[in-house]
Amino acid sequence: MAGDSNSQQPARLRIGLDPALAAWLAEVQYTLDTLLETAGYAREWLWAEPGTAGLDLYYGNEPDTRAPGARVVLPWSGRGFESLGKLQPTELRCHDTFVWPVFSGESSQPPIREAGSLRFASDLVFAAFWWLSGAHEPHYGRDRVDNLSLAGSFLGESGLQGKPWISLWAARLREHFRAQGLEPRVPEWGESTLAISHDVDYPEIVRLVELLRRPADARAIFAAGDPFWCFDAWADFAESLGTRSAFYFMARQGSLLRYLTGDPDAFYDVASPRFRSLLATLRERGCEIGLHASFRSSEKTERYAIEKRRVEEAAGAEITGNRQHYWRLDPEKPHESLAHLADAGFGYDSSLGFERMPGFRRGICHPYKPWHPERRAVIDLLEVPPAWMDDHYDGRLADSGISDPEAHAGGLLADVAASGGVAVVDYHVRGMNERFFPRWGAWLARFLPGARPSGMVGRTPAEIASGWLHHVACLEVESRGLSQGGS
Ligand SMILES: [Zn+2]
Repeated sequence: MAGDSNSQQPARLRIGLDPALAAWLAEVQYTLDTLLETAGYAREWLWAEPGTAGLDLYYGNEPDTRAPGARVVLPWSGRGFESLGKLQPTELRCHDTFVWPVFSGESSQPPIREAGSLRFASDLVFAAFWWLSGAHEPHYGRDRVDNLSLAGSFLGESGLQGKPWISLWAARLREHFRAQGLEPRVPEWGESTLAISHDVDYPEIVRLVELLRRPADARAIFAAGDPFWCFDAWADFAESLGTRSAFYFMARQGSLLRYLTGDPDAFYDVASPRFRSLLATLRERGCEIGLHASFRSSEKTERYAIEKRRVEEAAGAEITGNRQHYWRLDPEKPHESLAHLADAGFGYDSSLGFERMPGFRRGICHPYKPWHPERRAVIDLLEVPPAWMDDHYDGRLADSGISDPEAHAGGLLADVAASGGVAVVDYHVRGMNERFFPRWGAWLARFLPGARPSGMVGRTPAEIASGWLHHVACLEVESRGLSQGGS
């Protein structure tokens, strides 16, 4: 499918902007670039002076005057893009399969189709920027290990945090343009893709600790072999799905003492002979190796490059991906951590998830480049967003209030399939031990083969990241920068 669709040049959309938006050009272009790369279109930008005809998409005021006949009309609310502050939407609207947040003072009417034009009533670009940039996140509460709490927030109350709305909006735009003969570019995986990834933070059982935690399991704890060393079982599982696992290893060795004093890194030494041998075996099987960056790496950012080199040295190969231990990007400014990761030479990160909730933290299930609000520029690093982790459908159910994990996870997969996106699942290595973690690996092995939508193919996150960079580069070649509009 991908080959056929992409044998032609991707369609280039003519995007008209209201000159009144000039002060926020960087934010507006970032948001529309992200939406339209997700939809699969190249862009040609112009300022829409009155009477600009032949636009595929217009964003601004006075659409009938400035952009007569535009195929998509997105009204601007008049709100400045620096005014995000503590802003939260006032309601969540749903019409047909289209769902969108509405901010104070905006129309809550659904989009309408009128003579080939799709016309929105509320400011979708502002809403998408608010979400993608994580503008609301600094205002959430946090626990002692900096997990965000959505309690009392609009996102927490609405259930919105789970949905990849931005990807679904992009799919709606794609459907509209496609119906008018404008063919999108399709990423190399075709319809949608799935990645099986693993945080390696406790792969060697500490028997005394486990005995204190679960005294009833003494016999299993002291059985021969290591019940937490489940690398082969995961690699076998990923192969059964036609893909390979990605394992994120910690480079910084912690200790029980450090763990108990608030610096909870893993106990193993990735450079030890046992781990070097493991890394060689996993690489022979085609598994991806990445970094599970240490708990305080987002504060002590010099660690990123040091930890990357240490895993590379142990693996004997370059690595490109990172996931933070405890998802712990800089809790105040996650974009700073992402910028530091880019500086350290990482190609992608997969840490923008919520500890207590499954779903897509920035409202998107496609790879995307995060925004740096102070620099007002994109960060040169792809975020490959996680969809859920093991404990979301086990120990975290009490936090999220999700009563039917299969239905919830199935809904996320359906959204990914509907929008052509990416489902990255995160399972700790020890989770394939069914006795200790019956609702982690064993649950996934029962659920996923039947629940995976047809057409959803397996890839490693590194393959997804490089495929997406190629996709975006092909669209950029066909894109054109701003020029004066007018008819
Ligand atoms: Zn971890």
